[in-house]
Amino acid sequence: MVDKIYNFGAGPAMLPEPVMQQIQKEWLDFEGMGVSIIEISHRAKEFVAVLDEAQSLFRELTGLPDNYRVLFVHGGARMQFSALPLNFAGRVPSRKCLYVESGNFAGLAAKEAKTFCDMEIIASSAEADYNCIPELDSGQIDQDAAYLHITSNNTLYGTRWNQFPETGKVPLIADMTSELLSRQIDYNKFGVVYAGLQKNLGPSGMAMVIVRDDLLGYAEKKTPTLLNYTQCDKDNSLTNTTNTFAVYVIKLVLEWLKGQGGIAAIEQLNEQKSARLYKVIDGSDFYRSIAQPKHRSIMNVSFKLAIEGLDVKFLEEANDVGLYALKGHRNVGGVRASIYNPMPLAGVEKLASFMEEFECKNG
Ligand SMILES: *Cc1c(COP(=O)(O)O)cnc(C)c1O
Repeated sequence: MVDKIYNFGAGPAMLPEPVMQQIQKEWLDFEGMGVSIIEISHRAKEFVAVLDEAQSLFRELTGLPDNYRVLFVHGGARMQFSALPLNFAGRVPSRKCLYVESGNFAGLAAKEAKTFCDMEIIASSAEADYNCIPELDSGQIDQDAAYLHITSNNTLYGTRWNQFPETGKVPLIADMTSELLSRQIDYNKFGVVYAGLQKNLGPSGMAMVIVRDDLLGYAEKKTPTLLNYTQCDKDNSLTNTTNTFAVYVIKLVLEWLKGQGGIAAIEQLNEQKSARLYKVIDGSDFYRSIAQPKHRSIMNVSFKLAIEGLDVKFLEEANDVGLYALKGHRNVGGVRASIYNPMPLAGVEKLASFMEEFECKNG
């Protein structure tokens, strides 16, 4: 038995320990009500206060400009792949929506959009096996398009956009599922930012959508009510019964993040954590980075072992010492260390040392 397990799972992922303890502590008795947070109405004033607090903490931490709305929606990130074209393609007569294919989820987003709009992929790194963010020239962006969609952090390959594209008057939409709140972002650059919660924020099955208010009001008539962001905004994310537990957990995670010093502080720590692992990878021929150094993620560190087949042993032995869920995605193979905000530096240190020792014994 090892005393401490570090969970490197890509999602659902680890949550901060103090958050888990708080949930446990007030599970049977929320704020002296004598009932659990998951047993009260989504319209009860105590729950609405939790939801309001989650929204205002998000605003405070991100410095979100006032003209952006914060929505909690159903169906995780991929439900938004359908909701985006339904809500925004109608902004322009051509119903043209542009996509950059920088990885697995980026491709799925584009594929889903095809059903609902005139979808066009304007850049792709498929030929490079997604080891980088594709080149994108601003001249390639049709100024009459409804939006341009990117995936800011590519969870499987461990790549990210360091600089976001200049899109002119075309709203930029970003799937930030695997990196929301991990680095400072200028939200003014975006029309919409969205994220499934299960990586940096809380339980699976829900998403946050941050939308600039002038983009609301264009949903197609056929848009299902629960995918309609304008309706969701009108109802303060309570059109129907929301996942009250998830909203409660987000609030706790945001409080925790504030206690850590906010996004600037966590970004610095995330830089430090990822640099520790990349140093081991770059310092040897035994490990091979999957992402090109110029586009590396600070959330998902993906690599392979140079010796074919040795990753099975690596993963087994890592698991035996309490380094859990390091297996790379089935499309990519190898090893992936997801080191989201809640992963402490100690977990990364332990993994880095394990990697060095494993190389000594097997290299
Ligand atoms: C995990 C992930 C998704 C899928 O999220 P679901 O909530 O399972 O739909 C989509 N996009 C990115 C970038 C992801 O990392």
